[in-house]
Amino acid sequence: MTDTQHTTTDGLRQFDASLTEELDSLRERGLYRPLRVLESAQGPRVRIGGQELINLSSNNYLGLNTHPDLIEAACQAAQTWGAGTGAVRTIAGTQTLHEELEKKLARFKKTEAALSFQSGYTVNVGVLSSVLQEPDCVVSDALNHASIIDGIRLTKAHRLLFDHADLDAAEQALAKARKEGYRRVLLVTDGVFSMDGDIAPLPGLVERAEAYGAGVMVDDAHATGVLGSHGRGTVDHFGLHGRVALNIGTLSKAIGVVGGYVASTTTVRDYLIHTARPFLFSSSHPPAVVAACEAAVDLLERDDVLVQQLWANTAYFKKAIRELGFDTGTSETPITPVMIGEASKAMEFSDRLFARGVFAQGIGFPTVPEGKARIRTIVTATHTREQLDAALSAFADVGRELALR
Ligand SMILES: *Cc1c(COP(=O)(O)O)cnc(C)c1O
Repeated sequence: MTDTQHTTTDGLRQFDASLTEELDSLRERGLYRPLRVLESAQGPRVRIGGQELINLSSNNYLGLNTHPDLIEAACQAAQTWGAGTGAVRTIAGTQTLHEELEKKLARFKKTEAALSFQSGYTVNVGVLSSVLQEPDCVVSDALNHASIIDGIRLTKAHRLLFDHADLDAAEQALAKARKEGYRRVLLVTDGVFSMDGDIAPLPGLVERAEAYGAGVMVDDAHATGVLGSHGRGTVDHFGLHGRVALNIGTLSKAIGVVGGYVASTTTVRDYLIHTARPFLFSSSHPPAVVAACEAAVDLLERDDVLVQQLWANTAYFKKAIRELGFDTGTSETPITPVMIGEASKAMEFSDRLFARGVFAQGIGFPTVPEGKARIRTIVTATHTREQLDAALSAFADVGRELALR
């Protein structure tokens, strides 16, 4: 960059000045955050700015990103199949590997079929904008993930929001949708909510959707590799196989790579192949990504030692952090928010943890509602007890300093 001659026109200056104003407003509200740049692989410990830190900020639940099986599979696939695919899935970008992975995902989720996408974000946007059109209606939990919200924004379907995890409110919305006579009605919920770590009341939602003739879509981004037998997700956790139309998952979190998928029927798969815009208009996963994902699914099918380790660490950390007097909200999963309130105070808390060698991000508006800022922690299967103890002691110190406990 240093050798490049930068010429700046008035137009560009004005454009930048207008963006700068908005950035300044973020700074004033304490919401301006420089990127944290990792100088190491993602893991229970990371290096940032030359400092070694205990990492409570990743979604790498099982530590699979550095598992030798995944790395070996990625290297071999790159050697054999090349670095990229050079096409979208529907033209020339589907290799044997892509279909193999989809068969494995379907088997893992116990559905007829699965279809993979470039990311969890993309699968939500692609599926919702494809299966819902103007004569349809979507009934959505108010705290659903941004990618679901964006997917809904792309449809002309009618929208009804219900209060978070409120079965009565969901039922009212379903009743209203039925009365108004839409063609298809789809109830959408996260399986595990990413900022609070609570589990959707899926059995109640499924029963109500069935009573009103609606389909159900569950986004198990934070539940796959975490809940259910061998980490099969919330549908397995609650024994609801065959009753959820669209099982969404990501390959970017517990699976340790990147990607998203929908596990469903062969009809849904076929429909999406012909209509889902990210599938039609954005290139497919590189072979190394696909092969690493396959290795992760194989590993989870084989044994669930890592899932059990994840839950043992979760129980240990949750109990201790509550005993320190912190409010962890409604969390029931490895996502444990430590509620702070003011965004600026959460950022201050996070900075002080950082200075003590603990990497846990402060999260504020717009990711969570105003006044509900928090430190979001995620323990993984690969954290040692010593690392968890050191993190807990940093929380205790900073909590005392900021008079939060
Ligand atoms: C992280 C997340 C996604 C996006 O997944 P990516 O693979 O990172 O794009 C979608 N839905 C939920 C609920 C998530 O938490």
